[in-house]
Amino acid sequence: MAISLPACQQAQCLLTFPRGLHMDQYIPRRQKNKVVIVVGPTGTGKSRLSIDLATRFNAEIVNSDKMQVYKGLNIVTNKVTEEECRGIPHHLLGIIDPDVDFTSDDFVHHASLAVESIMRKGRLPIIAGGSNSYIKALVNDDLEFQSKYEFFVLWVDVSMAILHSFVSKRVDQMVDAGLVDEAREFFDLEANYTRGIKRAIGVPEMDEFFMNKSIVDYETRAKLLKAAIDKIKDNTCKLACRQHQNILRLQNQLKWNMHRLDATEAFLKRGVEADEAWERVVAGPSAGIVECFLHD
Ligand code: ATP
Repeated sequence: MAISLPACQQAQCLLTFPRGLHMDQYIPRRQKNKVVIVVGPTGTGKSRLSIDLATRFNAEIVNSDKMQVYKGLNIVTNKVTEEECRGIPHHLLGIIDPDVDFTSDDFVHHASLAVESIMRKGRLPIIAGGSNSYIKALVNDDLEFQSKYEFFVLWVDVSMAILHSFVSKRVDQMVDAGLVDEAREFFDLEANYTRGIKRAIGVPEMDEFFMNKSIVDYETRAKLLKAAIDKIKDNTCKLACRQHQNILRLQNQLKWNMHRLDATEAFLKRGVEADEAWERVVAGPSAGIVECFLHD
């Protein structure tokens, strides 16, 4: 019976097939299946890189952003749009009830199922997102994952000063795109922002603005809105720093097999030049590294 293997597995067989043996006599050594993980602080381009890679490697993406797993707040949590997905299937993106807590254990369970189903289709799973606690729970604390899969981590990094200015501008763009109306849906009269999607940066910060909706004086409202937006920018920058520290910890303490890509140059340019720099310093080298990992 002819079995059609995906390209990367065909390459593995070719590489491991011993000389002198006829193919029928040879039972290949069982290789662990391979998973690519893309990490990086918020705003560095993890989603873009994972989609770039998925278009080249017949892959599907498993989202591991703690807030993007929930339904709703597409602008606030910066979910990829359908157009940005470029037809690549995404798992665990915008599917969880926004009022429940999706724990690390839940993530491990659902992400494992997603990885299995992607593998069954003969495709490469790419796990991408900012939540290091989700990734750590899956890769470090789940013995089943460790026994079944071999993983490789691509770390997208950008100089913190440049990233802070980028994410601040991104918040202004989110406001223009409708952040305030989205956040209003999750305004809590009791100011309880401890569960589910309400923890997303962009929701608790708007509380005072919504709370004081009876104030009609334009200047006071404008001041309250500006204070909320400044807080969102500040908290996003703090999140980026924290995520950066957490990634360093994963690398130093857990000795993960990690490759860092410095995307700063792409962030310093505009338009076509920025796209060229992204391809040259991030997407191109990442594709080469993944190619080696798959055929290793
Ligand atoms: P922690 O233990 O601090 O929760 P973590 O690695 O588990 O860290 P992170 O992805 O760093 O998780 O998220 C921490 C917090 O940052 C979230 O609880 C949320 O408040 C905020 N956050 C994360 N991702 C987003 C997002 N896409 N949009 C808005 N806020 C987010």
